[in-house]
Amino acid sequence: MANKCQLCKEIFPSRKKLVIHERVKHRNNKIIPHRYLLIQPPLEQITFYQDAFIVLIKKRLGFNRHSIGAKQVSINAFPENIFVYLFESEPSFRYSSVQRKYSCSFQSEAGEQRLKQLVNYDYWNVRQDPKLKTKGYVLFMDNESSYEVTFSWSQSELKENHRIFQCGTATCKFVADSGEFSEQPAVAQPNAPNPPKVHKVDLSKNSSDHIQRSYRFILPRVPFQQINH
Ligand SMILES: [Zn+2]
Repeated sequence: MANKCQLCKEIFPSRKKLVIHERVKHRNNKIIPHRYLLIQPPLEQITFYQDAFIVLIKKRLGFNRHSIGAKQVSINAFPENIFVYLFESEPSFRYSSVQRKYSCSFQSEAGEQRLKQLVNYDYWNVRQDPKLKTKGYVLFMDNESSYEVTFSWSQSELKENHRIFQCGTATCKFVADSGEFSEQPAVAQPNAPNPPKVHKVDLSKNSSDHIQRSYRFILPRVPFQQINH
């Protein structure tokens, strides 16, 4: 019973054999046997967790040499139905029934663009400091190779006093980089047809405390140009 594959119903003498079976036979599995139990999450809840990802990822981005390299953010008590709702339609979405774990990864420019849609914010992966002309960003491509951003969800379980307690944790792994931006702020380019006039004017105003504070704040859904006003 305990060592039954939930995906093909085959029974194994040990958990270890089941794990191996799943890895070999269902490596790219997308089927969630209990999918019908996962209710459609309300929009406010989806937005809450999208914003949480944005804030936590941006907090890991910085403007100096210490803020580059592999980073990881985790959200404890992350609802399973939200994770499934956000990622289940993606080509790289996978579910491991034995491990009770989902994963989904994004690569190169296509992945970067797709994540803008999934977290509903174009600038989720960049922070910039206009005064120092530096930016910290989630790395997808450089001259040498492309990099992956991976989202996963896994369940922890505690058995005590004949009760089972369960809690899911969502994790995002990525590579952070930082660099200088020159004449035009790179993040303003994609969706701004006539951009950086405002940006430049405000910069030359010898930024007051107010402007500095606004910039350093992480505000989802407000493009950088508007923060500057
Ligand atoms: Zn199986």
